[in-house]
Amino acid sequence: MSVATRLLHSIPVDEQTGAIAVPIYQTSTYVQEAPGVNKGFDYARTGNPTRLALENLVATLEGGHAAYAFASGLAAIDAVVKLLSAGDQIVAIDDIYGGAFRLFEHVYRRLGIDIVYCDTTNAENVAKTITDKTKLIWLESPSNPTLKVSDIAAISAIAKAHNCLLCVDNTFASPILQRPIELGADLVVHSGTKYLGGHSDLIAGIAVAKTEELAKELKFIQNASGGILGPFDCFLTIRGIETLPLRIERTSTSALEVAKFLETRPEVARVYYPGLESHPNHEVAKKQQSGGFGGIIALALTEDTIEAATKLVTSTKYFKLAESLGGAKSLLCHPATMTHKSIPAPTRQASGVADGLVRLSIGLEDAADLIADLAQALDQLAAAKEEHVVTKEGELVVA
Ligand SMILES: *Cc1c(COP(=O)(O)O)cnc(C)c1O
Repeated sequence: MSVATRLLHSIPVDEQTGAIAVPIYQTSTYVQEAPGVNKGFDYARTGNPTRLALENLVATLEGGHAAYAFASGLAAIDAVVKLLSAGDQIVAIDDIYGGAFRLFEHVYRRLGIDIVYCDTTNAENVAKTITDKTKLIWLESPSNPTLKVSDIAAISAIAKAHNCLLCVDNTFASPILQRPIELGADLVVHSGTKYLGGHSDLIAGIAVAKTEELAKELKFIQNASGGILGPFDCFLTIRGIETLPLRIERTSTSALEVAKFLETRPEVARVYYPGLESHPNHEVAKKQQSGGFGGIIALALTEDTIEAATKLVTSTKYFKLAESLGGAKSLLCHPATMTHKSIPAPTRQASGVADGLVRLSIGLEDAADLIADLAQALDQLAAAKEEHVVTKEGELVVA
């Protein structure tokens, strides 16, 4: 059975009414026959049927024992970090989502968890960085925003050898292209805000556990800390996931075309896209992803300045300037001043988030229209540069 068929038919039909759409159970509590005698639900922080349908769906897609839905991607990440104790250490990818970096550095470091970062694109770096305190390895693959690809199977073997957990933030690939648990990961997190929701109309997060034991711990944390996803947003996320295979297929095809076009432009010094042969870990991406390389591209401008990047991101018509990604409409952003501004400049630049780096989220528009939009914006950038040179020379003549 194909992923799309399995996905659509693992969403249950409502037993009571036959409703084909999952009902929104907008309730805080459930009437009990006697104390503790109920229909499987007692209080809606602990459990909600709409949320359960979403959680079961994502667990099936990722091949995990169970999944838990949270109010945001960061709340899901937060729940995973709460599996640790003071004195434990996380080894994390250096090119990490800015919000995860902020949570690790400004909340968990204060609470006694140590975090070290390394370039995980070479698995040996991970082995070298691990200490006897390391309890969790944190990967994003592909990473946000420079699309670094790490070998999940190789790093999972290292994690097992050192008795620590491996968690993969699978937001960029989605379970359609990559299933980290099948590659050996213990935990998977998603910002459901992105591809799972898919329409830029909600904030959500999911954490998936491979084993029953980890699932129990995560479930305990979800209930104890309470950062749950509300029933309406669970419904919207399920609805988004129904079209996930189609959207991922379309966006992956368009993104490869856009990435190839960008490689031809002199204004662009480097294109970051795992589907390009020029990507340093293209072979690893091919090995661990299937069905495409996703819809996110990053580009480094030849003129590596905040000014040039600002000019580009304000010159497009279809690509809207906004944080976030994975929606139906194409977006672009400037990580250095937007999504990754919470990372200090030297750390950010060392991990490849240069001043002239621009991130694109390829939407569901026609690829030719998106390419034409980028072409006219790059033309404007080139024209602005020429004008600048003329003015300078003019000034020189006057002087
Ligand atoms: C957006 C994002 C997050 C955070 O998710 P929110 O839903 O915004 O809290 C985490 N990881 C990655 C890779 C992201 O792109």
